[in-house]
Amino acid sequence: MGRRRRKYRKPQLLRPVRTLPTIFECPHCGARSMSVDIRKKERNEAGLLKAIIRCGSCGLYSEMWVPEIFHPVDVYSKFLDAYIEGRAEYTFTKRERKVSLEELAEAESVGKSGGGAEEEEGKW
Ligand SMILES: [Zn+2]
Repeated sequence: MGRRRRKYRKPQLLRPVRTLPTIFECPHCGARSMSVDIRKKERNEAGLLKAIIRCGSCGLYSEMWVPEIFHPVDVYSKFLDAYIEGRAEYTFTKRERKVSLEELAEAESVGKSGGGAEEEEGKW
């Protein structure tokens, strides 16, 4: 009895990859060039990850430890709260060259790699 296996496509449950913003408005200089970088590999004893906040315009620089579930936007709002309340710890770094908005936009788009939709046909 020859059973034929019908090829069928699995319903695609791929969610569109949402790109959360990683560039924010700097509370110090007002430029939209503040980037948040969460270092997934730098973890402290409490299991928190190191987040780097940096403004490409005025050079504001801050580090904080955040829970793993934090997105850059969460880090930013946490920093913003602290900044407004005057308890944010930050410094200013001098950069050799300013990061242009174009570069920032580029850096933002690099993160969203496609992938995921792999075809499994032709295996049988
Ligand atoms: Zn700034």
